[in-house]
Amino acid sequence: MKLKALFTLAPVILAFACSGADGRKQVKIGDDIKFTPIEHATMVIQAGENTIYIDPVGDAGRFVLFSKPDIILVTHLHLDHFNLSLIASLKGKDTVVVGPKTVTDKLGYGVPLRNGEETAVKGVGIEAVPAYNTTAGRTEFHPKGRDNGYVLNLNRKRIYISGDTEDTVEMRSLSNMDFAFLCMNLPYTMTVEQAASAVLVMKPREVTPYHYSGKNGMSDLREFQRLVDEKDKDVKVLLLDWYGGNPVIGK
Ligand code: ZN
Ligand code: ZN
Repeated sequence: MKLKALFTLAPVILAFACSGADGRKQVKIGDDIKFTPIEHATMVIQAGENTIYIDPVGDAGRFVLFSKPDIILVTHLHLDHFNLSLIASLKGKDTVVVGPKTVTDKLGYGVPLRNGEETAVKGVGIEAVPAYNTTAGRTEFHPKGRDNGYVLNLNRKRIYISGDTEDTVEMRSLSNMDFAFLCMNLPYTMTVEQAASAVLVMKPREVTPYHYSGKNGMSDLREFQRLVDEKDKDVKVLLLDWYGGNPVIGK
């Protein structure tokens, strides 16, 4: 949930599948979906006609090379996920904003989606998965019932975006997932052990850590990869640099 300490950390990893024509790093999911990590929990997913901004925060200049969003998905109110004025400046007249009720109440517009609810926007199925802490001492960060993760049903693919959560029973019961974005930072979300344990039950075809910078630095993504690899070689672990690898546009 916090971005503090980002700048003191050693660079991590990493392998990007390709770069777009504009030099931004892009990763493909199947043949017709691609995503661009912006930073931490912020990304842009493009699939056919649809451009989806996930938790857009930061400088508006980071989004200038993308189309206006068809959909903006917000997981929760924390500042590393939600910026009211940025959303107002990024959205076009046809943009649909989807978020938990706490977010749409703050915005004064948008489609509220409570834990467990689902909707379809512009042909994209959106399921709200509960996102919350379960460990004593951490439950105040993300109390149960407030925040969302999402499953997107997009171009015949199922994509899980965890939001800020631990490895809840709801997460562990997800199945048939093509791609999963999993948070892992302390003390706010999961340990790499919790994340790996959830992956070994969920068995997505591919998983990538995101939101992995915490209070005391970056989580050990290599350890996450090792824990998954040693138990299940069928799950591909993709390690990406969500912090230093992307140029900041517009500065
Ligand atoms: Zn966060
Ligand atoms: Zn948070």
